[in-house]
Amino acid sequence: MKKILVLEDEASIRSFVVINLKRAGYEPIEAETGAQAFERIKENPDIRVALLDIMLPDIDGFEVCRRIRAADPQMGIIMLTARTQEMDKVTGLMTGADDYVTKPFSPAELTARVDALYRRMGGEHFDSGEMVQGPFKLNTRNRTLEKNGVRIKLTQVEYSIMKMFMDNPGKALSREDILNTVWGRDYFGELKIVDVNIRRLRIKIEDDSTNPTY
Ligand code: CA
Repeated sequence: MKKILVLEDEASIRSFVVINLKRAGYEPIEAETGAQAFERIKENPDIRVALLDIMLPDIDGFEVCRRIRAADPQMGIIMLTARTQEMDKVTGLMTGADDYVTKPFSPAELTARVDALYRRMGGEHFDSGEMVQGPFKLNTRNRTLEKNGVRIKLTQVEYSIMKMFMDNPGKALSREDILNTVWGRDYFGELKIVDVNIRRLRIKIEDDSTNPTY
């Protein structure tokens, strides 16, 4: 899973960030102080991205950034800056942050920044042509799907639908969206085709297709 450290001392902002990261398919790890942030990183060496608030009860976010960077040059770091502190951006980037988001930010803005950072950091995970979510592994090179290591045979259309959902973790997709993406905007058929394919896909990927969970 894509673990993200969320260092923010204000509980309301922290839970807002956490909820939206979860919705976007990430696994947030919370910290309220700089000291806690270092502990969480030690406990979770697979954290690859950190969101750092600046004004904290102990050491400030810049110092946290500096220390994380010194220990791990690979970590993706996004500073959560306040609009009134225009200098934060510059200082943050100077101390080794990769990006910053200005408060107040929308969920879409936040996840877009995180997604973009992950893509840029990309490396092995994205270039390998493999997408992993829960029990599923989608290989985008040979267009195959595995569930818990067992191959599931999909049609090209089912594959494209599956990929679309894995590209948009936690997001509800409309029939129109799926039709436009998978069949193309000039497709001249019925929306029903989407339902039929989703039903078939459910039979293949769900533990119980009448009570779908994925
Ligand atoms: Ca704060």
